[in-house]
Amino acid sequence: MCLIVTVTASASDRRKFEAASRQLGADGLRVDVEHLSRWPWAREQPVRAVISEAGGCACSLLSDDADWNAEVWAFRHDVLARLAATLQSLAGSVTDGATVEALWIGDNVKETRSVSTADLVELARTNRLGTRTRYEVLSSPPSLL
Ligand SMILES: [Zn+2]
Repeated sequence: MCLIVTVTASASDRRKFEAASRQLGADGLRVDVEHLSRWPWAREQPVRAVISEAGGCACSLLSDDADWNAEVWAFRHDVLARLAATLQSLAGSVTDGATVEALWIGDNVKETRSVSTADLVELARTNRLGTRTRYEVLSSPPSLL
């Protein structure tokens, strides 16, 4: 069994989302965008990225006392800043909202919460991402300046 951390955005935001995933570098974690847009059928679909340390699942990001029955995940303290930066970059890149989940495979979402990108980043930074929570990240309204 495995922890999978995903960020999903709408098809219209695919280019911005893919660009953000490439720009993170060492400040962020590894981001694998599924079904890159060279496949025409993928362009109409929501775009999903998987966040991990070295590809695949996110189990290695968890601390030794992480418990999938707890309310929130216990990530390793040394990855919190990069996890927060990664979520900020991805969720902050889109204009049409994003969905973030950190789910143990086989678990269902029990609660859906609407949050701002800043809320999401704060939750990640302070190690409070829910074990069965779907975060719907609202895009900030475009600046009028
Ligand atoms: Zn795993």
